[in-house]
Amino acid sequence: MSFSSLGLSAPILTAVTDKGYQTPSPIQAQAIPAVLSGKDVMAAAQTGTGKTAGFTLPLLELLSQGPRARNKQVRALVLTPTRELAAQVAESVTTYGKHLPLRSAVVFGGVGIGPQISRLQRGVDILVATPGRLLDLYQQQALSFSQLEILVLDEADRMLDMGFIHDIKKILAILPPKRQNLMFSATFSDEIRTLAKGLVHNPVEVSVTPRNSTANTVAQLICPVDKSKKSAALVKLIQQGDWQQVLVFSRTKHGANRLAKALDAKGITAAAIHGNKSQGARTKALANFKSGEIRVLVATDIAARGLDIDQLPQVVNFDLPNVPEDYVHRIGRTGRAGADGKAISLVSDEEAKLLADIERLIGKNLPRTLVEGLEPSHTLPETDLTPKRHGQHKGPRNPKPKSNSQRSSNRSGNGQGSDKAGQPRRGDQAQGNKEGQGRRRTGASTGTSKPTSEGQQAQNQAQNQGKQEHRDGNAPARRRRRRRPSQGAPKPATN
Ligand code: AMP
Repeated sequence: MSFSSLGLSAPILTAVTDKGYQTPSPIQAQAIPAVLSGKDVMAAAQTGTGKTAGFTLPLLELLSQGPRARNKQVRALVLTPTRELAAQVAESVTTYGKHLPLRSAVVFGGVGIGPQISRLQRGVDILVATPGRLLDLYQQQALSFSQLEILVLDEADRMLDMGFIHDIKKILAILPPKRQNLMFSATFSDEIRTLAKGLVHNPVEVSVTPRNSTANTVAQLICPVDKSKKSAALVKLIQQGDWQQVLVFSRTKHGANRLAKALDAKGITAAAIHGNKSQGARTKALANFKSGEIRVLVATDIAARGLDIDQLPQVVNFDLPNVPEDYVHRIGRTGRAGADGKAISLVSDEEAKLLADIERLIGKNLPRTLVEGLEPSHTLPETDLTPKRHGQHKGPRNPKPKSNSQRSSNRSGNGQGSDKAGQPRRGDQAQGNKEGQGRRRTGASTGTSKPTSEGQQAQNQAQNQGKQEHRDGNAPARRRRRRRPSQGAPKPATN
């Protein structure tokens, strides 16, 4: 399978080649022809599968064939849950559209609205936006949707998690009913399917990752360790493995700050990224992490969502997430688009229930290993994966962790064998599947606008202005709703 067989034209194929992609990823092979057919598409794909190019490439193709956007008009709208994801999608639009005469823009909160209004004045073919700022701009009559052809909802599951449902409904109400709809989501929960009913019509469904399975190239490992020893364990793992680029997940903003400081104190360069940081600080931290200036980025879930860091080799869960689905999202940060990655979770005995929830969700017991010299005082119970009948207890087989003084072995917690820390075993294989080619849309190409580098501009703009947070991409705590928090779990984090 090659990109040229998917129905993309020369300017786009050249950009893809420039980027160094040789073959389409499975989601691209399925989604590109489906989108080009002009039909609505519902795609189940998590970050790291190449989903952004999966919708951006055919979007550019379709838009390159129609009349250019008139003043204040938007021809394709891409909605994302976070500012970082918006900036990254916009960057992809710029990269893949660099040989096309299309105009694009990205808008999100936390930065001045004035430059965004000016940018929209001449109209844009593609607008990438977070929901709150888009509505603000619409209310200020900075844009109009009468020329809208395509709507993309990226990371729809996260949009719902972040409480954007009302904003999404408001946006749908102001768009012309006749349009092509593309919906991308890591998982298709019942909530997502309900949203889809009012959004996509006779959609082509594409899927590359079975529901709640974890990416195929990610090797996962659990390190049981006492809560008070987690920092020391992380330092040891980073030093022993000589990890140069590690994304670490912290459940809380304060925990992220504390950990970044503790790592810095040990001579491991680190920065924290979370909702209390200004947009400028976040952009700078991400840029420094990408360039290798800092080795560790400590992030909360919402801040990390959608971060596109090429071939991230190492992800660490310093705390397990309260919501098991977030584990799948988190480790989607590594092993992206065919590259190998390792995901290590530091798990204390207080997190036994969270671990059991995760292992049940992904349907497997994760291999465990101990960090030498930092063995935990309790052994984590093994998760019983056998399906329970309704009403039966769902906790770990031994819900109370036993003291290690009661157990003789401290080598392997679950009888599944242990590997050396930093050398985890391979994860399960994800599945691929089908979807057919379709009819191409055609249209006249008349526009003359210049290509832009809007994503980069947005990142710079955000960095320069560095203003305090706005609701875009950072839904206020009252709107942030988490699904199925584990009973007895630590207090839910705000990002
Ligand atoms: P995404 O899932 O869209 O966040 O993409 C994950 C990563 O895969 C990004 O860093 C892309 O640059 C990269 N990528 C996307 N498509 C391909 C491809 N066909 N071949 C190699 N890398 C790709």
